Amino acid sequence: MKQLNYRPGRIFLSVPHMGGHERNYVQKALEDNWVTTAGPNIPGFEHDVCQHTNAQHAVALSSGTAALHLALRVLGVKAGDEVISSTFTFVASANPVLYLGATPVFVDSEPETWNMDPELLEKAIQDSITRGKKPACILVVHLYGMPAKMKEIMTVADRYEIPVLEDAAEALGSRYSGHQVGTFGKIGVFSFNGNKIVTTSGGGVLVTADAALAEEAAYLANQAKDQAPYYLHSQMGYNYLLSNVSAGIGRGQLEVLEKRVKQRREIYSYYKEQLRDIEGLTFLPEPKSCFSNRWLTTILLPEGFKPEQVRQELEHDNIETRPLWKPMHQQPLFANYTYHGNGTSDRLFERGLCLPSSSSLTEEDLEKVVRALKQALEE
Ligand SMILES: *Cc1c(COP(=O)(O)O)cnc(C)c1O
Repeated sequence: MKQLNYRPGRIFLSVPHMGGHERNYVQKALEDNWVTTAGPNIPGFEHDVCQHTNAQHAVALSSGTAALHLALRVLGVKAGDEVISSTFTFVASANPVLYLGATPVFVDSEPETWNMDPELLEKAIQDSITRGKKPACILVVHLYGMPAKMKEIMTVADRYEIPVLEDAAEALGSRYSGHQVGTFGKIGVFSFNGNKIVTTSGGGVLVTADAALAEEAAYLANQAKDQAPYYLHSQMGYNYLLSNVSAGIGRGQLEVLEKRVKQRREIYSYYKEQLRDIEGLTFLPEPKSCFSNRWLTTILLPEGFKPEQVRQELEHDNIETRPLWKPMHQQPLFANYTYHGNGTSDRLFERGLCLPSSSSLTEEDLEKVVRALKQALEE
């Protein structure tokens, strides 16, 4: 059996944190024998997600990655199509483009939100059109919980009539102009993986205002079973359903979502206050119109410090930190794809570090992280 290789007392980046009535929902599922991919927690969880996000329709799925895959599929992305994607993201954003045989085109970030640059987006669209390939979809990511500049991005998308898919996997509870991110484009996706702000242990949700798209996604997620007394299939489907047990955890977690957002934001403020005297160390501020769930607190190190060296020093103190996401255009997997760059994500990856941000961290934990970080940056 694979051993978990960490020392006791470790301070992690982001771990699950129960706190609502998770146990009751799970217990009821066990008692009533709804230990399967059907049962009352599933519509209940979907309903709760709609309540918290103001989305019209929600489809509970086995992961955020599955939700992105289905979203691209129901938006009509086919083999050979081009999909414009943020380059500064986790690989789970871009892999579903490959699952469909489509071609990702990567667009760099702007420095204010670290998310997709709307001007570069427009250049990328024009470039694709010049090559005779109008993009089939724009996949915009709200990284680390910070909303992308959705007003500008939607304006560009509408100008060219290209559907927008929002990867809000890290951004449940984040708002742009007062609205939950994930509800601006045709489809939004949230992840409930164990490392996210709230969790179902593993899971994802697709949200949309379009009832037909939601229905199509739910159909494909259940092996594309057509209406018939026997197994009838006219399309290729997937097994992407969420378990009723997991959905029960999700229902309990959504009860404390606002509290978790508050706690993560307080952690950000704590670091910002405690580290303000370190010259050259900067944070990701919250631009006007943006309200971030501060899923992870991210810093840019002062000139002359490498994230890997600082990461290793904190590792000695049993503290987990991580470099920022390595951009997709730097990944060997995507070496041969088009990339529209301006240097922002390269620079962020060069200098950035994610700090422990679990909502369950104690003041003592946070003090320990600050102490270790100050020490690492004094040398
Ligand atoms: C976590 C994450 C995903 C994938 O979600 P899973 O539920 O882990 O499949 C997609 N995109 C981003 C940006 C993520 O952080």
